[in-house]
Amino acid sequence: MKANCWMGRNSVEVREVPDPRILNSRDAVVRVTSTAICGSDLHLYDGYVPTMKKGDILGHEFMGEVVEVGPKVSTLKVGDRVVVPFPIACGNCTACEHGMFSLCENSNPNAGLAEKVMGHTPSGIFGYSHMLGGYPGGQAQYARVPFADVGPIKIEDDLPDEKVLFLSDILPTGWMGAEMCDIKPGDTIAVWGAGPVGQFAVASAYLMGAERVICIDRHPYRLRIAERAGAEALNYEEADVLDTLRDVTAGRGPDACVDAVGMEAHHPTPAMYAYDRVKQAARLETERPYALREAIMACRNGGIVSVIGVYGGVLDKFPMGSLMNRSLTLRSGQCHVQRYLKPLLAKIREGDIDPSFVITHRMRLEDAPRGYEMFKNKTDGCNKIVLTP
Ligand code: NAD
Ligand code: ZN
Ligand code: ZN
Repeated sequence: MKANCWMGRNSVEVREVPDPRILNSRDAVVRVTSTAICGSDLHLYDGYVPTMKKGDILGHEFMGEVVEVGPKVSTLKVGDRVVVPFPIACGNCTACEHGMFSLCENSNPNAGLAEKVMGHTPSGIFGYSHMLGGYPGGQAQYARVPFADVGPIKIEDDLPDEKVLFLSDILPTGWMGAEMCDIKPGDTIAVWGAGPVGQFAVASAYLMGAERVICIDRHPYRLRIAERAGAEALNYEEADVLDTLRDVTAGRGPDACVDAVGMEAHHPTPAMYAYDRVKQAARLETERPYALREAIMACRNGGIVSVIGVYGGVLDKFPMGSLMNRSLTLRSGQCHVQRYLKPLLAKIREGDIDPSFVITHRMRLEDAPRGYEMFKNKTDGCNKIVLTP
């Protein structure tokens, strides 16, 4: 089959690789009909996630048709149409029983590698480094899906791929980012990052009853998409973020702040940007946490900072004094996607949300290298790319 493979920093290649097979009794094999490129893939592309190997198959947002099931999968049959959540979860361990699917204790066979970096391991993730399981990803014609009786959700009506594909990751992630804000009527929420994840956090915050949602980025075309989801746009290259957020909240700051940017934030001040870039390049810190620093500083006293942007290791100049002295709560996590599949599918079906509004580009799998370049450099108005194998 054809698959999009990581070939080193800033390099992916669509190559001919062996077809996946059933390895365990709870596996299924899915013929991928749609897959997407995620901001998380950029962290791999840019070389910031350790334990990638040349030839690793990328991709953790995918859906398709079941073509083979293991003997212990009674919930799916050949021909079923499914969306596959990006965290791999067994459904039986303590974490899974508590709905913390991205912390599954049984799905990372390389737990030891992750423990060295993080102390304990999260779940395995499709196409996301050997430290997180070394699972081949879904930017491919076929994918093996472990624990197929737990993760995939069946799509039993005629909703098109583009409306349901993002259940695999970014829609539940944006939703969880908003949910962690404990939104109450009248709340003002600020979201850093007008990428697809930030845009879904905006839409979710309104569905949860927020009064105002302010979305921060520097790309006008992305801010416009966030505006379509209801956001007030704040371009950090045109206005000071902390001053503006203070002004619009009577001096208090937003009730909750969502970081939907993660470890590769850009900084408007060249000197600060250079500082983090140099330290990151020298591996003195693994992240450029500019948005996170700003989210903490902006948040009102006693508010919540919800971190869905991905971080990999250690960072510095972390404003712990601000967090501690002002009684802030920091919440975070890889999305527990499985928890949100049914309720969010119902919202799509009822027309409360149509996730396809984030899509700007449709390409063939073969065009993945061009897609990665475009999505990384935010050229051609690129917001979200769907690939068809
Ligand atoms: P993206 O690259 O499309 O969007 C990121 C946006 O952040 C860009 O528009 C960029 O201009 C903006 N940005 C950069 N620096 C900024 C700053 N200082 N202030 C404000 N905005 C800034 O990526 P995406 O697909 O939207 O993903 C966003 C983040 O969410 C990534 O870190 C990704 O890894 C993460 N993610 C997490 C989960 C999870 O389960 N927690 C799931 C999916 C994605
Ligand atoms: Zn993703
Ligand atoms: Zn589990």
